[in-house]
Amino acid sequence: MKKIYTSLVIALLLTGNTSIAQNIEVPIVKDIVKEANENSELERLAHELMDVIGPRLVGTPQMKKANDWAVEQYGKWDITAKNEQWGEWRGWERGITHIDLVHPRIQTLEGTQLAWNPGTSDKGVTAEVIVLPTVKDSLEFQAWLPKVKGKIVLISMKQATGRPDYNWEEFATEASFEKMKAERDATEKEWNENMDRTGYDRRSIIGALEEAGAAALVSSYWSKGFGVNKIFSARTKKIPTIDMALEDYAMIYRMVEYGDKPQIKIVAKSKELGNVPTFNTIAEIKGTEKPEEYVILSAHFDSWDGGTGATDNGTGTLVMMEAMRILKKLYPNPKRTILAGHWGSEEQGLNGSRAFVEDHPEIVENVQALFNQDNGTGRVVKLSGGGFLHSYEYLTRWLDAVPSDVSQHIETEFPGIPGGGGSDYASFLAAGAPAFSLSSLSWSYWNYTWHTNRDTYDKIVFDDVRNNVILTAVLAYMASEDPEKTSREQIVLPINPRTGEQRTWPTPRSPERKGGQ
Ligand SMILES: [Zn+2]
Repeated sequence: MKKIYTSLVIALLLTGNTSIAQNIEVPIVKDIVKEANENSELERLAHELMDVIGPRLVGTPQMKKANDWAVEQYGKWDITAKNEQWGEWRGWERGITHIDLVHPRIQTLEGTQLAWNPGTSDKGVTAEVIVLPTVKDSLEFQAWLPKVKGKIVLISMKQATGRPDYNWEEFATEASFEKMKAERDATEKEWNENMDRTGYDRRSIIGALEEAGAAALVSSYWSKGFGVNKIFSARTKKIPTIDMALEDYAMIYRMVEYGDKPQIKIVAKSKELGNVPTFNTIAEIKGTEKPEEYVILSAHFDSWDGGTGATDNGTGTLVMMEAMRILKKLYPNPKRTILAGHWGSEEQGLNGSRAFVEDHPEIVENVQALFNQDNGTGRVVKLSGGGFLHSYEYLTRWLDAVPSDVSQHIETEFPGIPGGGGSDYASFLAAGAPAFSLSSLSWSYWNYTWHTNRDTYDKIVFDDVRNNVILTAVLAYMASEDPEKTSREQIVLPINPRTGEQRTWPTPRSPERKGGQ
């Protein structure tokens, strides 16, 4: 008993010790760690944002609801926040999507309507399903085209397997894995060549099918993992387009090939809402000594709507909100002003942050540092100097204050090269502001959660998110307290090995202020 007790005490001491160990002792850091671990609000925030508000597609009422929710949350923490309009977007609201196989048997199918396309009546559309034919040329395709009238058309290639490659690698014989890959490549090649022969490409064929009187289109954009599809927007103007999960899509496809004449029923009850205003939510803890200089915590607020946008970018949003809460509690009178920027419409091209950069040159000129997080739930493992010549000097100094159990995962890269896109830090960096991306460990982000129907609360790894909260809060504190204003001097960029030309610093781009038309 005593022995167990002693080792428990040692274990506690060790954990306690490592969690506050850092290269330089900054008294507030251990309070930040304590607050993040003992009074975390992450789980509640995640529930309210992902489960209750749901996905945050630009132009939807849910996006606006999220903006209002964030302002209210900040209010509860006594932090000033506001929604700042930067443009407008085609308003659209997802309704019920229900898809059933009704012939040759009954089965409810997994799929969803794609964003910004017309819905159906309550009755829905019920029709026979057909697939694109193999044709020798565009004349043959034109001759076939009238057959789509009144039919539901499958427009994606049938996948050979619903098992991801890692699963084949683990269990298949080498020969059968190789054979599957060779067959898959051949099918893909034939699919693309056949598409060329129709005289259309995968985008323009949609208009042709719609024009020819198709009742609805069904695509399936497999994300190369079990049960996971990517969900974007549709291109049809008058008829619904749905994305169907690989498993069901391949089954219906086989039914067509075997002559079973499958019929499906689609109910998709979306609503058009006209043009609606779009916002960034901006929260502020006012600086006391240098209020005109800014530390910005940055994460886009919008999402695609196949899932609930949990890791893209619910988790980045939570990191910044929770870091703000902790900073307000422990560091209510910062030297510099600390802003949180929750940007709108990142997914359509960094629109909210580009608008902010355009609308607030006085802030952008005086950014001390910006930290953006937007690649999933994982703990931060990479920090690049982004092409700022002296970033090594200040970023490493700030990182030295971060507890080693957080900083030990981070690989730094100096001076790095400036990112031209990918997420909102790029909007600021293009304008010359020292803006940095906190890059996360993947947790199978690209296949399983990024823009998929599986980007949901259950994928959040709260301990990693908490790790990122501590990191962000400490970096924000250090950047705010720094006696020096950060240098913006840029490196001379290297030659691009692909083109042989000298790389140039990215330049600011204007946002799309009237989107989705
Ligand atoms: Zn994102």
